[in-house]
Amino acid sequence: MTKRITILGSTGSIGESTLDLVRRAAPDELQVVALTANSNAKKLAEQAIEFDAEFVALADSNNADTLKNALSTTKTEIGIGPEALIEAANRQADFCMAAIIGAAGLQPTLAAIDQGNHVGLANKECLVCAGDLFMKRVADRGATLLPVDSEHNAIFQVLEIDKPEGIRRLILTASGGPFRETPMNKLLSVTRKDALAHPVWEMGAKISIDSATLMNKGLELIEASYLFNRPSAEIDIVVHPQSIIHSMVEYIDGSVLAQLGSPDMRTPIAYAMGWPNRMHAPVERLDFSKLNGLTFFEPDTTKFKALRLAREALEAGGKAPCVLNAANEVAVKAFLQEKIAFLDIPRVVEGALNKHASRSCFGTSPCEIDEIITTDTEARNTAHEQIVSL
Ligand code: NDP
Repeated sequence: MTKRITILGSTGSIGESTLDLVRRAAPDELQVVALTANSNAKKLAEQAIEFDAEFVALADSNNADTLKNALSTTKTEIGIGPEALIEAANRQADFCMAAIIGAAGLQPTLAAIDQGNHVGLANKECLVCAGDLFMKRVADRGATLLPVDSEHNAIFQVLEIDKPEGIRRLILTASGGPFRETPMNKLLSVTRKDALAHPVWEMGAKISIDSATLMNKGLELIEASYLFNRPSAEIDIVVHPQSIIHSMVEYIDGSVLAQLGSPDMRTPIAYAMGWPNRMHAPVERLDFSKLNGLTFFEPDTTKFKALRLAREALEAGGKAPCVLNAANEVAVKAFLQEKIAFLDIPRVVEGALNKHASRSCFGTSPCEIDEIITTDTEARNTAHEQIVSL
């Protein structure tokens, strides 16, 4: 039977990798229902034409004419504005890939969950900013959440989910990013270009910077806690520069189960899209005779303060993860615009967390979407104030 696929964020790195798998699948295996982008109308139109999409949504209305002109001779329906993303997610599909970057993906992803179908979750930020609400919604609507982040996908593959009492801890692996061996004093002057040059993974700009600060691993820690219902104390992080082991689960009998593979996002995407079956992915196969050793280190949370801040936010609970995420989004954007230095990113996040902690002690976890939006907006404002005061 043909599987109907929607991709939220189709013009991004995960979106394009997902479409690459669709392109290589048998003609009647996968059919594209809806695709979405923020502002890249040209790429969205090209994708719509190549994959004969039923519907496309562009969040930013400034480029609407480009999209409309490019698709004027096709049958593809067009939606413009943030509400069009919700319409894309509402379209009947068997699988929805949630691959918008940042908290902007929250409402469209929740709309996809409301359909009660399979949702591939790449957008970790929406789980970080709304964890309890998000997981409750998945349970209430009977949706199936399939982790796409390679670490969480690895854990999903080896986790005995129906026997939680046998699990001792989850172990997330981290590549360590481009500055793993850079001394602290040199981090003061690293550039945007240095930070974007990830040694292993090719990714969008925001997650590349998050990987350089190790905030990405911090967001993943929070993501793992919500996805697999484990407290911070039962989730460890280990630096593994080769990125061959994508994560592990330790059981109470001492067994450790790991998922391995070449560092290529098409493996976890294929796993999520094909689930519960396996589908072919054109990734480089592992040749164990050529692997020059797998190494592991403790992460340095003095040098990479963002990772410590994320763990503290998870342990503080309530609104803290939402504040952390929002402040980080603002700080990363400012760094990408070359308005702040690399080490200012965790400084801005820490400042925002401190300000919100003193105001509200983070309170309880937000369980209404309005509360999340308010917290997110306030934290962004605080982060902007922090940037001005640097
Ligand atoms: P990209 O920046 O490459 O792509 C982001 C996508 O989201 C694009 O389609 C972009 O549209 C769209 N978008 C951006 N802002 C908005 C907005 N305000 N409203 C609606 N759509 C928007 O990101 P990635 O593909 O790298 O990452 C996507 C998600 O997947 C992130 O949450 C990331 O953490 C996660 N992830 C990514 C991995 C990777 O290898 N890239 C690995 C694991 C997780 P446009 O092109 O028009 O700007």
